[in-house]
Parts: sequence; C-alpha cells; structure tokens
Amino acid sequence: MSRRILITGGAGFLGSYLSEQLLAQGNEILCVDNFLTGTRSNIEHLAGHPRFQFMRHDVSVPLYAEVDEIYNLACPASPVHYQHDPMQTTKTSVIGAINMLELADRMKAKVLQSSTSEVYGDPLVHPQRESYWGNVNPIGIRACYDEGKRCAETLFFDYHRQYKVAIKVVRIFNTYGPRMHPQDGRVVSNFIMQALRGETITIFGDGLQTRSFCYRDDLVEAMIRMMATDGEVIGPVNIGNPGEFTIRALAEMVIDLTGSHSKIVYYPRPQDDPMQRRPDISKAREILRWEPRVPLREGLVKTIDYFAGLLSGGHAIAAE
Ligand code: NAD
Ligand code: UDP
Repeated sequence: MSRRILITGGAGFLGSYLSEQLLAQGNEILCVDNFLTGTRSNIEHLAGHPRFQFMRHDVSVPLYAEVDEIYNLACPASPVHYQHDPMQTTKTSVIGAINMLELADRMKAKVLQSSTSEVYGDPLVHPQRESYWGNVNPIGIRACYDEGKRCAETLFFDYHRQYKVAIKVVRIFNTYGPRMHPQDGRVVSNFIMQALRGETITIFGDGLQTRSFCYRDDLVEAMIRMMATDGEVIGPVNIGNPGEFTIRALAEMVIDLTGSHSKIVYYPRPQDDPMQRRPDISKAREILRWEPRVPLREGLVKTIDYFAGLLSGGHAIAAE
C-alpha cells in the first residue's frame, strides 16, 4: 500500500538514494532539505515524478505536512561540515528532532531517527553493541554532532514513553558510495578524489585507527527494514558493515583500485578522533534479518566509477 513519506535531508548522500528506493516501491515522497550539504543534482532525476515533491526547508523550523512515515536524516555528517557551524549542527539535531517528533505525534506517523556510531564516541568497548553507553567528550570539537545526536535519541525515547510516539532509532556506522559529495571531507571521498587526481593521499595520524565501511545500498535497505518492523521494535539498532580496516589499509586499497601513483602523506590526527570502530550487528541480524552484502573492494570500485564520472564531466547520477 502506498504511504506518504517525509524524508528530511532527502537531497543528501543517503537521503537521495532512500527517496529513490521508497519512490520505486510506490510511495509518495516529500523530500525536505536546506541544501547545506545536499545538492539539487542528487534529486534532479526524481523531480517531475508525480509522486515526488521537494520542499526547501530547515528542520529547525516547525513543519506541518500530512504524512504516514518520517525518516529524519537532516544533519551534516562529515566532521568538516558539522564543525563548520557547530551551533547550527546541534540545533539541527535537537530542534530538528523535536519538530519531527511533534509532527509524528500530531499525524500519528512513525518516525525513524538516523543516529550514529558517534554516540559511542572514542569507544572503550570493542566491537560496539547497543548496550554500550559510549565515551564522548562533551566539550570537544566533535561534541556538536555527537551530543546533538545523543540528545536526539533521548528526545525520541522520551516522546515514545510520554506520548507513545511510534519511534525507530538506527545507529549508522561509516557509510560510503556514489552520491557522496566530492568535497565532503570524509575519508572515502577524500582518498578517491586524491587518487584520481594524482594528488597526495592525506592520512591523519599514523593511519592505524580503524573504521568499518558499509556500502550505501546495504545501509538504506536496513533503514527501510527497520521502518517496517512492528511497533514493539524501537531500537536502537546498529547498522553497518562489521568488516574493520585501518585507514592505512583503506588508502592502499584505493591506490590499488585506481591504479594511482599518489603518495601517502601523514598529518596530525584531529582531536577526539576515535581510534577504533566496528559495529556488533547481532541485533540487526536478528530483528531485521539483515546483513551487509557488498564487500569493501566491490563497493569502492562502484564509488570510484562514480567519482571518475564526475571528474570527466559526466552527469552525476548517470555515472552510477
Ligand atoms: P549528507 O550531508 O549528505 O546529508 C545530510 C542532508 O541533510 C544534506 O542534504 C543537508 O543539506 C541536509 N541538512 C542539513 N541540515 C539541515 C537542516 N537544518 N534542515 C534541512 N536539511 C538539512 O550526509 P549523509 O551521509 O547522507 O547523512 C544522512 C544522515 O545519516 C545524517 O543524519 C547523518 O548524521 C547520518 N549518518 C550518516 C553516516 C554516514 O557515514 N554517511 C554515519 C552515521 C550517521
Ligand atoms: N581521515 C584521514 N584522512 C582524510 C579524512 C579522514 O586520515 O582525508 C581519517 C580521520 O581522521 C578518521 C577516519 O579517517 O580517523 C574517518 O574519518 P571520516 O571523517 O570519514 O569519519 P569519522 O571520523 O566521522 O568516522
């Protein structure tokens, strides 16, 4: 049955792909974005579709719309972007969450929060399970994002307890793929763009810190599955790929796959940069009957093709 679905942050990397998938399933999509880090080109191919509507709007301002489901993705995700205007980042997460929860309450809609592995901070428990409370520096440069997302989770659970709002919370681990912004500043897009341009590859720190990289399509499938779970399932549920790689191994893989002659240079590691990160996805496996299918090398090849298409002047979406 067709549902009316609001996607905030719908012109971003994940939101645009989610919009496309939910549209293909026959739903009506209301995509809301203020283009802080998202782009028109990400949703250009959906414009004109009779079941797709776009609204330029900032989620820190209340919104009234008739919807059955809300996916709340609005928030810059790259450290470079979320640290650029930290107060705005916190406002987007906290006030944005209140506005979406109020809307969900009024419409009796289900609302899904795209939370993050950053709620675990620089984790002292490895791999991270949902029961771990995290290790976040509340006054550091990442706090605007980490604490904003933690507070959003608090709001989701309080609205659920107090007003019975139907909530779903997923904690997303590092995700990459086509439609990441080339100047996004995150490690995968940086390394690929640097390798394709023959520039030096910038590793922050000694490159021994680890991340677990999930391909976009796998991630979005998990989000849709989470929304479809019955009312008792509220989360939080970790979604990500448990394959763990050092940043140095990632750099070497990108150099190998692009055939680049780029050299690696080392810069200081940023403050509070987490040393290791890997999701325990037992809960997702059990509740969502989901696990990622795309290994890192395969996903990187697709992402490299996308960025190579952009550099050769090709159309962004056509390059996928
Ligand atoms: P993105 O930056 O590409 O997308 C975020 C979108 O939100 C952009 O289109 C941006 O313009 C929009 N936005 C930002 N502030 C807004 C505001 N105040 N009002 C309306 N729109 C606003 O990032 P993404 O990777 O697609 O991330 C989507 C969501 O998933 C974010 O909430 C992010 O925190 C979460 N997440 C992503 C990752 C990841 O690795 N990609 C990991 C953990 C969590
Ligand atoms: N990183 C790096 N070079 C870059 C960008 C990032 O070495 O050009 C490192 C960064 O310090 C971190 C890891 O890669 O240890 C992942 O960074 P990203 O910004 O992608 O995501 P996050 O730190 O939020 O997981």
